Amino acid sequence: MNKNRLVEVKNVSHKYYFKGKAFYALRNINLELFEGEFVCLVGASGSGKSTLLRIITGLQTPTEGQVLYKGSPLKGVNPNATIVFQTFALFPWLTVLENVEIALKARGLPKKVRIPIALELIDRVGLDGFETAYPRELSGGMKQKVGIARAMALEPELLCMDEPFSALDVLSADAIRKEILELWLNGKMPTKTILMVTHNIEEAVFMADRIVVMDKNPGRIIGEVKVDIPHPRDRTSAKFLETVDQVYSILAGELTERLLTLAHSKKTAKVLLPDIEIADLTGLVEHLYKKGKEEDIYKLAEELGVDSEKILNLIEAAELLQFAEIHKTKVKLTPLGEKFAKSGILERKEIFAISVKKLPVFHWLLNILKSSDEKALKIDVVKAALSIEIPENELEKQIEIIIKWGRYAELIAYDDETEVIFLES
Ligand code: ADP
Ligand code: MG
Repeated sequence: MNKNRLVEVKNVSHKYYFKGKAFYALRNINLELFEGEFVCLVGASGSGKSTLLRIITGLQTPTEGQVLYKGSPLKGVNPNATIVFQTFALFPWLTVLENVEIALKARGLPKKVRIPIALELIDRVGLDGFETAYPRELSGGMKQKVGIARAMALEPELLCMDEPFSALDVLSADAIRKEILELWLNGKMPTKTILMVTHNIEEAVFMADRIVVMDKNPGRIIGEVKVDIPHPRDRTSAKFLETVDQVYSILAGELTERLLTLAHSKKTAKVLLPDIEIADLTGLVEHLYKKGKEEDIYKLAEELGVDSEKILNLIEAAELLQFAEIHKTKVKLTPLGEKFAKSGILERKEIFAISVKKLPVFHWLLNILKSSDEKALKIDVVKAALSIEIPENELEKQIEIIIKWGRYAELIAYDDETEVIFLES
């Protein structure tokens, strides 16, 4: 890898306004991308990864700070960069060939030149024989390949991809991953640098030279891991697993910090409740119990067949409810978690209720419900009170989670018709 710097993100912050209130989707981001590098961005949903990608490609101007491209400040859209999105917007009325050709047309190439180049690109992504097919005739994986061929037709120096495989089934994702990697490693792409957003930590370790880890509230970089493993990478090798572990422990470290904040906070709702399904949480606790009460975080994602974000949310929930504790990269059941695992449905609800009552937001909510005359409140009142502590863009989601957990615990009930929340007797 040479050391020419392609992109420099300097002190970038980005504010969004949601219902009139400002919040930082990105806070003080500093990042350099060098030529010859494949960099992955990983982190919870809402940590500003897509926003950062748009800022780096110039689709969006940051509210603070600047982006340098080859040393010069970026003004407007960067013509040397392209983004591939999760679901590719192909023109349904154009054939595969025409969909790729249109990108070459955008570069101002004459028709005679365009056709052979487009055919070559289609061949390169393995779609030889599908030139005259229409998007509706293609599988998701094939559509994404057309998208990638189109991105390559633009010959971007900087190729950005925003969760390019997450809409695909496991097998297609795996195949395309390998194909892109092969094109990249064999220099069959004109691209100098790749920046890819992914939810999937194993995918990042499989593909990237460097992994930048982000977290939310506010969106920021919390760590970085270099991946020093020669290609093709063996997902079962000790080095591979160790690297996956490193990324998880950065995320888990942040997680524990958030939980500590909760423990020390006397405020109602400083820490947001993770959005999980109770059935999934039950699944996690049962699984840990079966595994001898503890397991590595990264193994859990694999064993339960869920992505890294979902598993972190579940672990966060288990920790908030005092069912589990994190020790470095391991999750360990607490005696309470063990009791939960061994209990029947009704007993589980009781255990859950006891834990939920200890959460500051529930403690607060149950108190105000108790002190209200009817033991009930309009949801708008609860919302207004919570809006002091919870960022406005998270408010609806948090209310939804509170109602879900409260209902399961049989502590509160909610009437959708009257929009009234009340104490369960
Ligand atoms: P990620 O890609 O990591 O999930 P995003 O960059 O999409 O993160 O979003 C970061 C935060 O900014 C989220 O809370 C999201 O709801 C918010 N957000 C994204 N785009 C906008 C927008 N155009 N207006 C207001 N808020 C936005
Ligand atoms: Mg995104």
